[in-house]
Amino acid sequence: MSEARLQRVRDRLAALDVDALLLSKGADLPWLTGVTAMPLERLTMLVLTADGEATLVVPRLEAPRVTPRPEEFRLRVWDETEDPAEIVAGLVGKRRSLAVSDRTWAADVLALQARLPKARWQSASLVTGPLRAVKDDDEVAALRRAAAAADRVATALVQGQIDLLGRTEAQVSREISDRLLEEGHERVNFAIVGSGPNSASPHHDAGSRVIGSDEAVVCDFGGSLDGYCSDITRTVFTGQPPPEFRDLYAVLERAQAQAVDAATPGTPCEDVDGVARRLIDEGGFGPNFVHRTGHGIGLEEHEAPYLVGGNCDPLVPGHAFSVEPGIYVDAKWGARIEDIVVVTELGPEALNTVDHALSVVA
Ligand code: ZN
Ligand code: ZN
Ligand code: ZN
Repeated sequence: MSEARLQRVRDRLAALDVDALLLSKGADLPWLTGVTAMPLERLTMLVLTADGEATLVVPRLEAPRVTPRPEEFRLRVWDETEDPAEIVAGLVGKRRSLAVSDRTWAADVLALQARLPKARWQSASLVTGPLRAVKDDDEVAALRRAAAAADRVATALVQGQIDLLGRTEAQVSREISDRLLEEGHERVNFAIVGSGPNSASPHHDAGSRVIGSDEAVVCDFGGSLDGYCSDITRTVFTGQPPPEFRDLYAVLERAQAQAVDAATPGTPCEDVDGVARRLIDEGGFGPNFVHRTGHGIGLEEHEAPYLVGGNCDPLVPGHAFSVEPGIYVDAKWGARIEDIVVVTELGPEALNTVDHALSVVA
């Protein structure tokens, strides 16, 4: 599988006329090699030349973490007193057109630029982004497992099995996080709980606010399971929602469902966003939908493709992304519905299947 990815990367390097790909922190490296660079100061970097071999430069004390794949890359272990940037520069040699992974620390890029003054630099995501965006069957299966685990937590939420009233957002966020782990995630990436006026803040940090009755509560959470991410949002109401909120929610529910339906092969990414935006606009909430409709998901929570105005790239089978329109009325309330969707030859398939109906919990 990884050899197939390596070949696709090499083909793309040739097509883009890139001489060497330099991968460090971030998801490109594990996607290609199974190795993750630790988010610490020492440099781990794969140097993949378009015309030759691949070498993984890795610090001595982190080398035992690396599963050798001699048919794919050789190892260059560096000792504490060596200069890893010098080693990478040596491997790059006279090659000029370089692509470096987007998450590489600036300090490392600056050190490399100082040693390779004639190089031309671009983002590795230009090479890897479109490749990583199209998931193979194993990746879709992993996303499916992650979504199913998140669904079990979301089901508990909408069925009122997670107490909200009288608890702080932070307490509820912690319970959601614990449940994500209990359901099989190895890591929790975030657990947003926004109650009352805080539900109008899309990326609210769960805090000390105590959840009261007759409030909208937006819960948006996800983690990683077997390396692949989950991400789901459900909005619940602690009491009988007033007609005004029911109307808002009905507009949102319709916009989300129709945007999912629009995610067919060949459809430009921005058109999926356009469907949600038009319906929310027609419902009178245009200015209250303040973010794009969705983001790709895989080894990273947010990756290509992005469902946003201006992205004309067509959807293809294997694309996996969130569809998560929201409506936010400042200082009053807000709502968002989010599912992960995979494009198949037959059309869109939502991996999350938890009911969308506005649920009344207490
Ligand atoms: Zn978000
Ligand atoms: Zn989310
Ligand atoms: Zn999301």
